[in-house]
Amino acid sequence: MRLGGQTHLKADRLFASTQTCSRCGARKESGEKLTLSERTFRCATCGHVADRDDNASQNLRHYMVAAC
Ligand SMILES: [Zn+2]
Repeated sequence: MRLGGQTHLKADRLFASTQTCSRCGARKESGEKLTLSERTFRCATCGHVADRDDNASQNLRHYMVAAC
């Protein structure tokens, strides 16, 4: 089930990208996660505010850099 594990990891990272601050890397706790209707990411740790999709794309860019 190695392949399944990898697929899950990718999906997990994609999901986490919307819940992780692109500035300080803080991950939102389960009780404060964004829902699909919330369009703005607000970090409770550093106060960073960004469009949800912009924040997620910044995080994915970090992942890609880290993977190279
Ligand atoms: Zn932050």
